[in-house]
Parts: sequence; structure tokens; C-alpha cells
Amino acid sequence: MTNKHDERYDLAVIGSGPAGLAGAISAASAGAKVILLEKESRSGGKIPISGGGRCNLTNILDAENMARSFGDQWRFLIPALRSFPPEKLREFFDSRDVEIEVTDGFHCFPRSGKAAHIVETLLNECDLLGVRRQNNCKADEIIFENGRIAGVRAGGRNIFAKALLIASGGRSYPRYCGGTSGYELARQAGHRITPLFPAMTGVQCVEEWPKLCAGISLPDAECRIDLPGMKERCRGELIFTHSGISAFAVLDLSGRIAELLAEHEIVPLKVNFFAGTSKEEWLQRFQIWQQQHGTSNISKLLADFMPKRLIPFFLEQDCSAARFSAAARRQTAERLSSYTLHINAVEGWEKAMVTRGGVDISEVFPKTMESRLCPGLYFAGEVLAPAGPCGGYNIQWAFSSGSLAGTSAAQQMK
Ligand SMILES: Cc1cc2nc3c(=O)[nH]c(=O)nc-3n(C[C@H](O)[C@H](O)[C@H](O)COP(=O)(O)OP(=O)(O)OC[C@H]3O[C@@H](n4cnc5c(N)ncnc54)[C@H](O)[C@@H]3O)c2cc1C
Repeated sequence: MTNKHDERYDLAVIGSGPAGLAGAISAASAGAKVILLEKESRSGGKIPISGGGRCNLTNILDAENMARSFGDQWRFLIPALRSFPPEKLREFFDSRDVEIEVTDGFHCFPRSGKAAHIVETLLNECDLLGVRRQNNCKADEIIFENGRIAGVRAGGRNIFAKALLIASGGRSYPRYCGGTSGYELARQAGHRITPLFPAMTGVQCVEEWPKLCAGISLPDAECRIDLPGMKERCRGELIFTHSGISAFAVLDLSGRIAELLAEHEIVPLKVNFFAGTSKEEWLQRFQIWQQQHGTSNISKLLADFMPKRLIPFFLEQDCSAARFSAAARRQTAERLSSYTLHINAVEGWEKAMVTRGGVDISEVFPKTMESRLCPGLYFAGEVLAPAGPCGGYNIQWAFSSGSLAGTSAAQQMK
């Protein structure tokens, strides 16, 4: 039953992260009457904490290469990324006086170094376009009438809308704004949720020695999952933690590891602590040390490459370079270049930056982001199953999918 006091909109957007804000802006730009519902008192979803507070909002890849970085499900992302590619996102902010800079030839950040500028700009745009913004307003239940979307029950009241966009983000970072209520809403419409795994986080290992090195970092390590058929590698800084290892050397593998740990008790992870230096190169180096620095201790020579506290874990016994036996050289070279850590867990939802899994994309039209099961229902951003790597991929995907969903929903109203 509806009455004259009920609020009526063309589109109700659930979630004010990048996906929801892009959805609201694109729908309102196309003439739709939009309400943006946010369960938290602050807006912007995870933008304010992204990129260490600086917001790595995209990168310089084109749509196709960016999509391919999402793995198996990449084809689903193509229409959204083509309709709103990285250069369009940069133009959007540039034309609103938020200069975007490519800091290292690849990653894009606001020049101010402040993620808050991104949020402010998006909220201003919503206000200019007449989007009604409602914070502290959690969407709990979809309202259906005659099997069609009719609105949403949120913050204890009925909000009527011809279309709904679920842009509720993922389960990760519950202390910020992560949660599962978006998946519950999707289920109410009959959608399947694929298993959820914490991704982009550290991993825990059986070995004790990495934990004794907690806080130490190496600038450029490389990890790969040592199971048949696994090709992905991950390279960058590696930090030893109280439970294992973290940072860029492992972040992009962690979601896959979490998935594998559902079937395997242990996932072996091969680590080259000095990416680009092979076992043979270490052996050659040891030989040179033997010839040219015979009286120097190996620990002293290794100290040029790593913090002193790490050395005992790679070097069974210290000795002079002249007395470094062939067996000891092989063992040290192997440990440095191809060490197997046995991973038994990934850090949980509290630390995971992204959620792997979510609304099953086989039930969503990639060209409109509309549900195949429930006309008038749209999805965007991290609530959907695909998860990208570190480096501006996930925020770009949220903007692109949100923008496509908002435009599609507005077109449906015409
Ligand atoms: C610490 C951290 C750093 C990151 N850094 C980067 C980075 O630099 N670059 C990058 O590309 N990605 C980064 N990410 C990932 C990126 O932030 C997310 O993938 C992206 O924000 C997802 O956008 P979204 O709009 O789908 O969801 P979110 O940003 O999570 O926004 C969802 C919003 O929906 C609201 N909501 C949820 N349920 C409801 C409901 N029932 N009713 C009303 N509102 C609801 C939430 O409160 C939230 O505000 C980072 C993530 C974290 C945690």
C-alpha cells in the first residue's frame, strides 16, 4: 500500500562509495530523479581510506588491459570500462579542478594527495544535479509490487523508486563501511552470491622465522603460488609480520590463496626475496666473494643486501667467504631465491582491502549492469563478484560500472 506522503524516485542508489556516486551522477545527468542512500554518517564509501588516504583512483591502462587484470571474469567488465574508461574518469575530475597526476608513470592520484577532494567533488556534483542524499539510512529490504522493483525499505521508511542500484561494496573493512547487507538485498531478488573471500591482504605461514622478523621489509620480492597450473606472480615490497608476510609482494595473490585454502590445508608459496636475482646469480656472486673477499665474513657481505636481523635465517652458519662450502652456498642461494613458505591462512576481513566473490555476474547484463532476474534492479562496484589487483583497478571498476548502471537505469525511465 502506498500513500501520498511516500517518497517517489526514478532511481534509489544504495551506497555512496565510488560506484553509488557515479551511478547517482550519471542517472541524474540523464534527467532521472535520484535518491542516494548511505548507511554511514559519512559519504564516499572507502574512497577516504584508499591509497593510504591519497586515493589511487585509476591507472593509465586502456579498458581492455584493465579488464584483463581482473582474471577469468574479465569479459564481463569490458562494456562498463569502455563506456567510462580511465581517461574519462581523469577528464571528469580535471574539468572540475581536481588535477589528477600520474605519479610513477602508471598510478593516478589527485595532485593534492587528498582522497577527501575526490569525495567532495563527487558530492558537489550530486548536489548540483539535485540528487537527494540521505545518510544514516540503511537499506534493509527491497519492495516488490507485482513481481517488479517498486522501491526499498530504508531507515525505517518506504522509499519508492522505479529502479534500484545496489552499490553497497564488499564485506572487507567492516570497521569502516564494509558489510554484507548488499548481498542480503541481492538474495531477496533471487540472486546467487558466489563464496566471499578476503583479498588484498597479508598471509599467515606455518614457519616461525618470518614472525621473528616482524617489521622488517625488503624492497623488491616476488611470490608465486607453488601449485600445478598456477602462473600468477606478484612483485614488490615484502614486509614480515607477526603472523607471516604482507605488502605488494603478496597482496594480489592473497584472494586466490584464500580461495585455495578452502580446499587445501596449506598453500605453498615460493618466495624470491630479491626479485630478478636467480639462484645461479647468487651462486656466481658467492664465487666472486670467495675469490675477491676471502677473508670477509659472509654475514658482513650479505649485510649489503638485507637488514642484519634477517641474515641468520638465510645463512645456516657464518664463516669467511673462503670457507663458504659448496653445500652451504647452494642452500643459501636456494633460500634467498626460491624459499617455500607454507601458508595456512590469510589475514581476515578486518585487514582485507577487497572482497573476492559476490553477486554472480552470470545473472547480470554486462551492457547495462541490470539484473537478468529482476528488471529494474542494477548492480555496480565491489558487490559484484570480480575483484581486481592493487593499483587503481577497483575504484575505476566501481566508477565505470556505477556510471553504466546509472545511465542504463535513466534510459529505462524515458
Ligand atoms: C584500506 C583500503 C585501501 C584501498 N585502496 C585502494 C586504492 O588506492 N585504489 C583502488 O582502486 N582501490 C582501493 N581499495 C578498494 C576500493 O576502495 C573499493 O574496491 C571501492 O571503494 C569499491 O567501491 P564501491 O562503491 O563498490 O564500495 P564502497 O566504497 O565499499 O562503498 C559502499 C558504500 O555502501 C554503503 N552501504 C553498504 N550497505 C548499505 C546499505 N544496506 N544501505 C545503505 N548503504 C550501504 C557503505 O556504507 C559504503 O559507504 C582500497 C580498499 C581499502 C579497504
